[in-house]
Amino acid sequence: MERDAMNWIAGEWAGKPVLASSDPSNGETLGRFVSSNTQDADAAVSAARHTFDHTTWAQDARRRQDVLLRWAQALELSVEPLAELLTHENGKTIGQARGEMRAAISEVRYYAGLARHIAGHVIEPEPGTISTMLREAAGVAAIIVPWNAPAVLLVRSLAPALAAGCTAIVKPAAQTSLITAAMIRCLDQPALPAGAVNLLLENGAEAAARLVESADVDVISFTGSTEVGKRIMRAAADSMKRLSLELGGKSCCLVFEDSDVKAIAPRLARAATIISGQQCTAARRILVHVSKADQMRDELVKALASLKVGPGIDPASDIGALIDAASRDAVQTTVERACDLADRVLLRGTSSGPGAFLSPTLVEHGEPHAFFCQDEIFGPFVTLETFVTEKEAVEKANNTVFGLSASVWTHDSARAFRIARALRDGTVWINDHNRLFAEAETGGYRQSGLGRLHGYDALADFTEIKHICVGAGVLEGIEVLGS
Ligand code: NAD
Repeated sequence: MERDAMNWIAGEWAGKPVLASSDPSNGETLGRFVSSNTQDADAAVSAARHTFDHTTWAQDARRRQDVLLRWAQALELSVEPLAELLTHENGKTIGQARGEMRAAISEVRYYAGLARHIAGHVIEPEPGTISTMLREAAGVAAIIVPWNAPAVLLVRSLAPALAAGCTAIVKPAAQTSLITAAMIRCLDQPALPAGAVNLLLENGAEAAARLVESADVDVISFTGSTEVGKRIMRAAADSMKRLSLELGGKSCCLVFEDSDVKAIAPRLARAATIISGQQCTAARRILVHVSKADQMRDELVKALASLKVGPGIDPASDIGALIDAASRDAVQTTVERACDLADRVLLRGTSSGPGAFLSPTLVEHGEPHAFFCQDEIFGPFVTLETFVTEKEAVEKANNTVFGLSASVWTHDSARAFRIARALRDGTVWINDHNRLFAEAETGGYRQSGLGRLHGYDALADFTEIKHICVGAGVLEGIEVLGS
């Protein structure tokens, strides 16, 4: 599989691949990618704008479905090399990479189906007045993607954008430029008009910032940190864009006294260390009923310590490398600061090289305002806290600026539902964690974001509703009743 990656603008692959992308498990260069500037961003916007304004792409639902189905087919034909590239470039385990590619392909197919059903509605608000609500494509969408799940996070924005009839500019994180370009190359097919999808690669955010400011971009679909999300919201204010923001989280797992702690501790350990703890929904805080705290301490330490840290490409590894050495060092420094302040350090993570490896840390703490119970620490770090009552559990879980996801562990189904309703999170799992589906809307309450991706509602981020009103009148001889 070709690895060097170029920009794709107005249907042409362009630019000189000069920046290296490397494998975080061993530092080896995997390939090179283009370094874009603001002129490249302007060219990509102008191509996307032109195709949106001057072709029937937005009205041709069957063509859009066809393009999406062909994309899914092309991805499927290369699924194994794509999964291997994803593992090499991101560090995640090969099992997780294969799962991500399968989920991404399935999601493309889901939106291919929906492309044929972007339905509005018609009402008659007064006799003889017909109001048609058309759901129209919003225009040009800029899709800014992080590195942690670059395949599925690309698809969950780009597929609904294309299904809805938008044209798009994709801007991945530098660290996962090669896998993104490899996936976009699978979209290069005759049915897709030139400029309907454009790709901009860069190290940093100069081109991305230009997309956010541009008056010719109608929608920003951003997945990434809350900090950058806020910056984008401010920068997009002048041009009043539609914003879809999928941001950070600090997911709690609430474990009640009727739970089988021995059985669930290994599942919580995996939920916390998925993608080396670099998943927005990863389990970050385990809140356990005080009667089960001793057992949870022992079982969780055992489960976390038994996970094998090693190169993602080795099928025996449970936890791969972090995204790069700089991130590993930053996470490790924060974890050490947390260990200094926590009531108890139950398991202390260690780094090992030459790759960006870091084993999991578990601390116990009683004070939920501590920075490490509040801030998103994007690595294998978990806190253990206790509660006595349901009310206390919910208050502790809701005591955060985030609201992305949580899980409730109990066999009492009424309690599970009661707690799920009280939690201020976009997703709540019962006796499970980290389950996401193409069909089910995901998104954040509070500072975890705006809008929803996945599911039918994702189309709302890429559409506008137009009201067309016609006074058709009533037939002669029909009495119009007075008020
Ligand atoms: P990040 O915010 O640093 O970067 C994300 C993307 O934004 C990258 O492509 C980056 O180049 C770009 N970017 C950076 N500065 C920008 C600017 N000023 N203007 C426009 N674009 C800019 O995030 P990251 O470190 O790549 O990813 C990790 C974060 O993403 C975590 O906070 C995680 O929780 C979050 N995340 C959220 C979800 C979700 O569904 N809510 C999913 C995955 C990741």
